Amino acid sequence: MFGSHLSIAGSMANALLEAERLEMDTVQVFTKNQQQWKAKPLDEDEIARWTTEMDRLDWRGRVVAHAGYLINLASPSDELWAKSIDLMRIELERCAALGIPYLVHHPGSPTGAGSAFGIARIAEAYRALWPSVERLGTVCCLENTVGAGSTLGGRFEELAELRERIIASGWPADRVGYCVDTCHAHAAGYDLSTIAGAEAALAEIDRIAGLANVRALHLNDSKGACGSRLDRHEHIGAGTIGGRSLGKSGFAAVVNHPAFRNVPKIMETPKGDNPKGTPYDTLNLRRLRKLVADPVPIMGGRPRRGRAPNPSAR
Ligand SMILES: [Zn+2]
Ligand SMILES: [Zn+2]
Repeated sequence: MFGSHLSIAGSMANALLEAERLEMDTVQVFTKNQQQWKAKPLDEDEIARWTTEMDRLDWRGRVVAHAGYLINLASPSDELWAKSIDLMRIELERCAALGIPYLVHHPGSPTGAGSAFGIARIAEAYRALWPSVERLGTVCCLENTVGAGSTLGGRFEELAELRERIIASGWPADRVGYCVDTCHAHAAGYDLSTIAGAEAALAEIDRIAGLANVRALHLNDSKGACGSRLDRHEHIGAGTIGGRSLGKSGFAAVVNHPAFRNVPKIMETPKGDNPKGTPYDTLNLRRLRKLVADPVPIMGGRPRRGRAPNPSAR
């Protein structure tokens, strides 16, 4: 299931229509302006149009929303913390109204108060949220980050501890998961530039956090080197993950990993068209799909393993 983060300009449903036009299988959206605290309530028409298109595409259960950037559930400022909880509640209500099953958010930053404080603060925010969002089905996905500055979530140990604390605060385990961003992981020091490196990283993430809890993936190449802590997304196959040989890069391991078979895989790569007028989303999608090993053919009654990813795929 491949998709991209697409614009809701004009109408929420436009993101679905654009994803369909680009021949994707899913989409990620902001359900409101991601740079603002305020949100105009969704009107009935908007919800109806979205729902009609989502059902026509049969995309229930696979669409992803990304929470706004102002939310910081780890903030030591009581005012910002309370505003973040309020906006998180609104984000979850909007997802529920739109039938969106996954809400991805960055854990946040305790800005100098330390990671232990930040983790406790986020868990406390979740505890405060639970009574008003219990009836909503949306799953919160904690996204890994590059771990720059005091930002939480660069290491999966931290994300796993955070999730444990959230569950201890009263959230059921199936309502809080992870979103793994390949650019962020690579920039945070998990080397995804080779298949072996990615397999080792995924095994480590599985041991620490459980790959079954990964409910969404962000597939982005990285401008910054492994460990650079630079959060700059690059086209698939043009960055420090897939730039040397896309077919032998960690992308091949990620798109073929059995744990991710039914996980929405979202590109947050640069937009626009190439000089020939082809949308970069189309090119990046093509590159990722080419890495997916062929369905297992039956030869002489004996199932063969899927062909190895084409190393010349770019
Ligand atoms: Zn991301
Ligand atoms: Zn990023």
